[in-house]
Formats: sequence, C-alpha cells, structure tokens
Amino acid sequence: MTVSDQLFARALQLIPGGVNSPVRAFRSVGGAPFFVKAARGATLTTADDRELIDFVCTWGPALHGHNHPKIRAAIAAALEHGTSFGTPNPYEVAMAERIVRFVPSIQKVRMCNSGTEATMSAIRLARGFTKRDKIIKFSGCYHGHSDSLLIKAGSGALTHGNPDSAGVPASFARETVVLPYNDRAALDAGFAANPGQIACVILEPYCGNVGFIMPDPGYLDYVREACTKAGALLIFDEVMTGFRLHKAGVQGLLNDGRAQNKAPAFTPDLTCLGKIIGGGLPVGAFGGRADVMDYLAPLGPVYQAGTLSGNPLAMAAGIAALDLIDELNPYPKLDQLGRQLRDAVLAACRTKGLPVQVPQSGSMFSIFFSDTPVRDYATALKGDAKIFSRFFHACLAGGVYLAPSAYEAGFISTAHDGPAIAKACDVLTAAVRQI
Ligand SMILES: *Cc1c(COP(=O)(O)O)cnc(C)c1O
Repeated sequence: MTVSDQLFARALQLIPGGVNSPVRAFRSVGGAPFFVKAARGATLTTADDRELIDFVCTWGPALHGHNHPKIRAAIAAALEHGTSFGTPNPYEVAMAERIVRFVPSIQKVRMCNSGTEATMSAIRLARGFTKRDKIIKFSGCYHGHSDSLLIKAGSGALTHGNPDSAGVPASFARETVVLPYNDRAALDAGFAANPGQIACVILEPYCGNVGFIMPDPGYLDYVREACTKAGALLIFDEVMTGFRLHKAGVQGLLNDGRAQNKAPAFTPDLTCLGKIIGGGLPVGAFGGRADVMDYLAPLGPVYQAGTLSGNPLAMAAGIAALDLIDELNPYPKLDQLGRQLRDAVLAACRTKGLPVQVPQSGSMFSIFFSDTPVRDYATALKGDAKIFSRFFHACLAGGVYLAPSAYEAGFISTAHDGPAIAKACDVLTAAVRQI
C-alpha cells in the first residue's frame, strides 16, 4: 500500500469522501487521489516521493509556480509581526491600491476570504443597490457554492431554476434565472420574461469551470448593453481569470482591443477576484463602481463582514504575487507555453485520427475529446469523458498531473518554462498514442 493509499484510507474514515473539496476526489476519472507533501515551481512531490509536472496549479492561484521564493519571503516577513489583528492593517491599503491600479473598473474594493464569499457578497450588494431580487447566471458558469449560485440550467429555466445541489431551497432557486452562455437571444428572452426584476447578471467572462470556453466575439459587449438597458448590474466573476490572462483580467483583454479602435472602455459594474490575489493563501475580493460599493456597511445598508478579512499574511502573499506580475509581465511567455502545449496535443490527436478540441488562451486551456467546437455547457458535455479518463491516467503514469475531470480548465505557470513544458508535451503526446 502506498503512503497516499494509507492516508486516503484514514481520511475516508474522518472526512466525507476523504477530501475537503469534492473536485479533489478522483470520482470522474476513477481511482484514488494522491496526497502531496510539497510543491515547488511546476512540480508536485507526492507523499510517495513521485514528482509530477502540475497543470492544476492549485486550481488557478499558482501563476508564478508553487512556493515562489518572493511570495514565501513576504509571508515570512509578515509573520514576524503577527497573524491577525482584528483591526485595519497597512497591508490592506497596499493591496487595495494595487487592485485599483491593475483593474481600472474597480474604484473601491472589499477583501474577503474566498471566491465564494466574493460572489455571494457581490450579489447581495447588487440586490441591495437595485432593490431587485432576481439574478441571471449561465449554465456551466461556477461562482462558488453559495445557495443562489449553485444552480444550472433545467428545462423551463427562464422562470424556474432547478437546484443543482440538494439543500438549496426551491424558493431560492426561483430567484436565479439560468441561461445558456454565448446565446444572445436567450439573454434577451431572460430579461423580457422578468421585466424590471433582474438585479444583476453574473458570468465568468471566459468560462473555466466546464473546461475552458471563450465568448463569441462581441458577446460580452452584448451582455453589457443588455444589462445597462435593463437597469441590471453586470458582475464579472474573474476569480479564475483575474491576473491570469492579463493584469486587468478578461476586461483588460477587451480593453486592449478597444483602445486600439479608440472605443470607450468596457466596464463591468462589479468584479469578483480570488485565487491569484491570495498568492496561495485563502483570499477573495469584490470591487467596482464607488457608488455601488458605498452601499456596503458601514457606509450603506448592505451587510458584509469577515473576522479574518484582509488578513495580514494573505495580503502580504497577494501583494508579492501582484508585484511579481508588475516586475515580470508574464503574459506573453505564458501564452507561448500555452500554445506549445495545445499544438502538441493537436498534433498527437491528428496523427492518431482522434477528434479533439483544445481551446486555449494564455495560460488556460482544456482538452475535449470531441469533434464539436465547444462554446457552451451543452457542447462541453459532448467531450468524451471515458477517453479523457484514459488520457488522464496515462498522463499521470508519465508524470504529468492534469485536473482529474474532463470538464476543468488546465493552468500553466511561469515555472513551466523550459524543461517542464518540453517534458509535458512529450508525455501528453505519448498518452494520446496510448489511448
Ligand atoms: C474558484 C472559483 C470561485 C470560488 O472560489 P473559492 O475560493 O473556491 O470559493 C468562484 N468563481 C470562479 C469563476 C472560480 O473559478
């Protein structure tokens, strides 16, 4: 029995399913998860001393690779002064200054402890500000595990959401209108069916939680206009994409294009952040228009709070992660690594005659074994999960760790540059040959 198997057997007795977050259990690919005792750069070291090239990157946060010396040093320096004060601290101001500088649509920001808190609080704020109850979300978009967001499409979703999770009251689900992503007519119909009732539209501007899906050209502008027309707020959930594809997230990518055409800036009303801004420690944040943010307590009537919010260690780690972005501008290099990986998988599948879609932008990608281009939840589900799990296990045997599900994005870090990406391309190519 391996050390991982022993640990998992103990965990199964004490922790539901043996894991503290369900995606970590290998339910969708089969087999038992491995335990990791250390991570550095692009590499995980398992409890059994295997070294794996990691394309999960702690599900997004590790933009600079694991255990980056500068982030570690920043945490150690902050630790000298204590772990939590329960009062305002200087790191919170330094963090807010950076977020506002990086993401121009954010005029004011509030820190919290996870992406789930960020989206949950942003929605409460949108409801309080607009004095409306309903929200629109898109099937396949994941916004954390709060009640009104754990809902995906069902038939008749325009007026009645179907809860995705047991324990979500049907009365809550009714306040969430679920629509297909990338579908303009469905959005118009969703607004038309709920006139004057939609507080906000929340979306992942590039989806990363049903695999990786990009919006059709012009789609995000369409959503922006529809919200403005309906008096609803637009919430960009950039918990995953924020700082990953651009300093200013997907809105930064949009605005680079608009600046070239001298078009006015694209601004969501609120933006949710997390993952990378914690530098590997637990963090979330939401921010946006000052007039909306000022609806938050203690200035306004919308309550939101957190004992550990703005925690000095988490702020120090996040500040170091953001300063590394400033120092390195990692995005051109990351895109080059992403394309290298994508091209290797495409070439291997072409040789084998295996249908595949590899959507990729910068350091995000996913691999769908399907002949249908993926543009929403329904087309994502056409990816062959059985082939994926064979591919996943072949990669793992070769020393490459992909997310243990056919419907998750992969992430690349700056630490993958060089031997790691080259070896990974070889392993993925061999794995395609094997399946
Ligand atoms: C990960 C994620 C969340 C939830 O963040 P947690 O820190 O896991 O609560 C919300 N939205 C998106 C887009 C995410 O990728």
